[in-house]
Amino acid sequence: MQFLTLGATDDVGASSHFLQLGDTGLVLDAGANPSEEGPDRVPDYDLIRRQDDGYVDHALITHAHHDHFGTLPVLVDEFPHAKVHMTTATHQLLEFLLPASARLQQKRKDEGSTTHDPLFSEDDIELQSSLYLDHELRAPFDASEVGDDAAVEAEFFDAGHILGSAGALLRFEEDGRERRLFYTSDTRTEAQSILPGGSYPDEPVDVLILESTGGADPEAEETNRALEEERFCAALKRTMARGGAALVPVFVMGRAQEVLALIDRFKRRGDLSDDVPVYTAGSMRAIAGLYDDTRLTTPRLNPGFKVFDVDQTDLPYGRDKLKRTLEQGPAIHVVSSGMMFGKTLSNRLARDLIGDPDGAVLRVGYAVEDSPARRLTNAAENGKRVTLDEDSGPQPIRADVERFRLSGHSHRRQLLDLAERLRPDKIVLVHGETEAKDWMQTHLRERLPAAEVWRPRQGEPLEL
Ligand SMILES: [Zn+2]
Ligand SMILES: [Zn+2]
Repeated sequence: MQFLTLGATDDVGASSHFLQLGDTGLVLDAGANPSEEGPDRVPDYDLIRRQDDGYVDHALITHAHHDHFGTLPVLVDEFPHAKVHMTTATHQLLEFLLPASARLQQKRKDEGSTTHDPLFSEDDIELQSSLYLDHELRAPFDASEVGDDAAVEAEFFDAGHILGSAGALLRFEEDGRERRLFYTSDTRTEAQSILPGGSYPDEPVDVLILESTGGADPEAEETNRALEEERFCAALKRTMARGGAALVPVFVMGRAQEVLALIDRFKRRGDLSDDVPVYTAGSMRAIAGLYDDTRLTTPRLNPGFKVFDVDQTDLPYGRDKLKRTLEQGPAIHVVSSGMMFGKTLSNRLARDLIGDPDGAVLRVGYAVEDSPARRLTNAAENGKRVTLDEDSGPQPIRADVERFRLSGHSHRRQLLDLAERLRPDKIVLVHGETEAKDWMQTHLRERLPAAEVWRPRQGEPLEL
């Protein structure tokens, strides 16, 4: 078996990996790099053709986060015969998110905020999306090269990360024996507010492709979900008590719904007044609708809970109106983007809010190095000014800036536990910054001394 990483490997980047299993060529995820623009967002799909007979027979998309699906139309355009597999819920989400991405790319080109042409159009997607194949969790399906029936079997396992998210188990024969590979993708072993923790293969695997997002976050393993929820509640209460606004930058897909469920719980038990407006915007409503539509058919802690039932107020358009929502007394803004990239609502609002000593920016998810969200946290910790957007200069920070471990990822010790449980001979570390992979590699070698631990570089094939 050969493994080849197609996305950049020095940061979290765009997830996409190529596997050659006998005659079958298989791609795991087709992400976009959120920190880049235009063609630099795309994994290097040309690397596949540079392999002997390299071709994609199947592509498995593990979940509806852009760093995992954002360039799928580009991959399918290059390998039009590839069969594309995902869970039913992920397909429903992509039918909404892919056209939204095409429209956004076009809009940015039209308004001159990028010089790059869109990577794909709405028309491209409409043709493709009807051909994506849906699968239920724990329902094995064929992923072999055409004419080579049952050479490779695939199966999705609940990843506990966002709606529809899955890890993928592959079974195939090599040199006369069955081999098993498990790709965790982004995974969370413990419950969140809406979703239960992930589920994993019962039997050991030969090869584990393991995410390492949390590898450089020692604080996460020293706390737990219940403590972080209470800390988050207390921070909201403090901000509301002094009449300020709390900005919660979130990924619109997943984190937003989990945070709304939490705020709803805080309101129900009386920690937050019912009158505090919770501002949301844009596609969050549509995604909430999909969370609710699938609440009886996908894993849930409480299938009775509906995200749509959480009282929300639409954020108004226009800079002045937006600013006013920060100045009118207690309010909570749950808006995208989670990493606070320029030109997004969370960035716009943060620039108006961080000078206000009554305000608070409460981060709840992961942010890549050098993203505005990370810069804000670092500057606040060091008492420095922060530049959130090139259009605005460095600003002093007077608002509270806090971070809570409410992420959809496992912390690093849970990832080690998972590896131990799956007893792989070989572990391939992906999806993490260098420091995160360093920690994971050192500790995996201690915990599983017999296992080989690999850190593949982009474009360097690994024989496993
Ligand atoms: Zn994800
Ligand atoms: Zn990811």
